[in-house]
Amino acid sequence: MTRLLSVHSVDDPALREAASILAAGGLVAFPTETVYGLGADGLNPEAVARIYAAKGRPATNPVILHVDSIASARALVSQWPDTAQLLTERFWPGPLTLILPASEQVPAIVRAGGPTVALRCPAHRVAQALIKAVGRPLAAPSANRSQHLSPTLAEHVASSLGEAVDLILDGGPTEAGLESTILDLSVARPRILRPGPVAPAELAALLGALDLWEGAVRPGESQTAPGMAERHYAPRARLELVAPGSGLAPGSGRVAYVAFGHLPVLPDSIRGILLPLDAEAVGTRLFALLHELDDAGFERVVMERPPAGEAWMAVRDRLRRASAKEPT
Ligand code: AMP
Ligand code: MG
Repeated sequence: MTRLLSVHSVDDPALREAASILAAGGLVAFPTETVYGLGADGLNPEAVARIYAAKGRPATNPVILHVDSIASARALVSQWPDTAQLLTERFWPGPLTLILPASEQVPAIVRAGGPTVALRCPAHRVAQALIKAVGRPLAAPSANRSQHLSPTLAEHVASSLGEAVDLILDGGPTEAGLESTILDLSVARPRILRPGPVAPAELAALLGALDLWEGAVRPGESQTAPGMAERHYAPRARLELVAPGSGLAPGSGRVAYVAFGHLPVLPDSIRGILLPLDAEAVGTRLFALLHELDDAGFERVVMERPPAGEAWMAVRDRLRRASAKEPT
């Protein structure tokens, strides 16, 4: 059985044990304010290689380094533009990841061989305490098998990664429930590579112009931005997106219908689930809901398309990719 320890405070002995596992090149899953991360010493290439093996993650997809401060971030880059200073003063610690030109300190495996590095300073007190205790940046992609649903509970990590992780720190449910916003500052005009809890408008207020990027790379195409594969965050159930109010005729198998704001009348055989018209609340619950439906054995989940508008961009992005067809 995978070891799972609850962390109740920042001086919990579980944190010291986790730090010594990480310092020795091991893997520890820990809570952040977005989702659970699968952590390894980000400056130790062998330790980072274990993350790729545990997740079944393609070597072409780089990992984010998690730091405890702006000062630690600056040591990992070769350029620190004014925009990075502005953004980190405003949004760190928090769910914003910045892409910047990497310094020589950053191992190639962290960058997937590219010239840039992704950096984030998480706000969760367990994540903060762990990074400080190890005294090094932690590589920490979401703690799930590649392409599967991200974990918002310690139990999700245990069922997705099992024995592949040395220790799981349990800090309860994560707050944001969706992965960080990723902003590329290594290009002439900043652009969002992944929408997340920090909204485009909040970034634009500081930066002026920025590019929103709502596309995705199909299998076989080269990835402009790593991790942009069309299918991602997928539940085991078949997920279909439909127009709001579509409803559903009775069919075979276990089927759930998920609506926003108003649930249409449904046949008795279909489980109806109503989500609020509140993008933040839906973000927090989305992955947990899909995990629950998987665990309950639903084969098909029919979900209404979430509303248009910037506030829903991150939820739309995850649902579009979770419902993308399996590459053939
Ligand atoms: P996750 O594995 O769920 O934590 O997601 C990490 C995301 O950060 C993936 O989409 C990666 O492709 C992205 N990422 C990490 N490093 C870079 C980088 N240097 N340039 C662009 N994206 C990156
Ligand atoms: Mg992930």
